[in-house]
Amino acid sequence: MRRDFVANVSHELRTPLASIKGFAETLREGAVDDKEHRIEFLRTIEEHADHLTKMVDDLLDLSAIESGHRLPRLEPEDLAVLLTESVRAFAPIAGDRGVALEALPLPLLPKALADRDQFRQILANLLDNAIKYTERGGRVEVSAEASAGGLSVAVRDTGAGIPADDLPRVFERFYRVDKARSREAGGTGLGLSIVKHLVEAHGGKVSVESRQPGGSVFRFTLRAA
Ligand code: ADP
Repeated sequence: MRRDFVANVSHELRTPLASIKGFAETLREGAVDDKEHRIEFLRTIEEHADHLTKMVDDLLDLSAIESGHRLPRLEPEDLAVLLTESVRAFAPIAGDRGVALEALPLPLLPKALADRDQFRQILANLLDNAIKYTERGGRVEVSAEASAGGLSVAVRDTGAGIPADDLPRVFERFYRVDKARSREAGGTGLGLSIVKHLVEAHGGKVSVESRQPGGSVFRFTLRAA
């Protein structure tokens, strides 16, 4: 597994590196005088460098979580507050993409045992995906309810959906249903594996249901305080 992982990481890093080198070479060999295109080439180099940074950040995160260096500090938290806060943080992004984003009114719930920062990170990854994989005019809803022995949070979208064959694999590192679309959207293929690790470190479980067309629902559970 470790050997596979190193091979995957190397492959993932190589793609943006090859582009950076290619565009730098093109500029050096003359495109630097091409007023019309040089800014575009520089911008592309910058985008690939940003992508590399995001990938390294995600890998470091994953490694810290997996090796137990980032154990969650569990405190009783009010889900209504945490969900509203995350939805508010993503409202401008959803607005830009023409996707309606809403936190549904919650029933009266016990407090959840959660690490506030890690909860934000879980929700950020799920919201980022839900918005990213939903077309203009679509909708993303966040909700929570009581579930057996605890609480369950759901992020539901009316987006592209995930084919049944891919569903069991989306939580694997670097697994992407549509590589081109993920890369174009700046995805690293690591977001959902980070979500899975964080949720499990909280003593919860994460799951997904999806229909094509129809959209996806990602759910995770937390223990009640
Ligand atoms: P990425 O950085 O590619 O988004 P993730 O680990 O977050 O990586 O997700 C893995 C893959 O699962 C994505 O590439 C995408 O194909 C699929 N996926 C995740 N969330 C959704 C969603 N809400 N709707 C459709 N597909 C999704």
